Amino acid sequence: MDKNLTACCGICCADCIPSNRELFDLADRLEKVLGELRFDLYAEYKAERIPDFKDYPVFLTVLHQIRQLHCSTCQQGGGNAQCEVRPCVRAKGVNGCWECAERPGCPRLDRLRAVHRNLDYNLDRIAERGPGQWFDKRKGHYRWQ
Ligand code: SF4
Ligand code: SF4
Repeated sequence: MDKNLTACCGICCADCIPSNRELFDLADRLEKVLGELRFDLYAEYKAERIPDFKDYPVFLTVLHQIRQLHCSTCQQGGGNAQCEVRPCVRAKGVNGCWECAERPGCPRLDRLRAVHRNLDYNLDRIAERGPGQWFDKRKGHYRWQ
């Protein structure tokens, strides 16, 4: 795979939900079709018999927020705009946290460690093999995988 898929923090951008093209194509299409159908009015009508449809505006808000998650790779400026890891990597002049001696216990990585339980395992693999050669050794991305 392309080494640009290796983010500064050591996650693989191809494994992130915000990189899932199928998901965002479906979400875009669903929002468009619901709008064309005026499903909001249909939901109001359905809510007279099925109260769950009163939550349709909440569903639309969540759908909109899902669409906002779509991003390009970390190396191309995607990811979290408030991320403290990427500027730190740049400031240190390293290619990523796998090259940083301060990685053990780094507080900037702790939030990521909480959701990406294999982050340090993967960072070790990147350090061994390089950012373009570690992908077949990576372990589960999210803590629920
Ligand atoms: S923006 Fe930050 S948290 Fe997101 S992938 Fe890049 S370094 Fe990791
Ligand atoms: S200090 Fe932390 S965030 Fe910064 S480069 Fe080192 S490991 Fe990464």
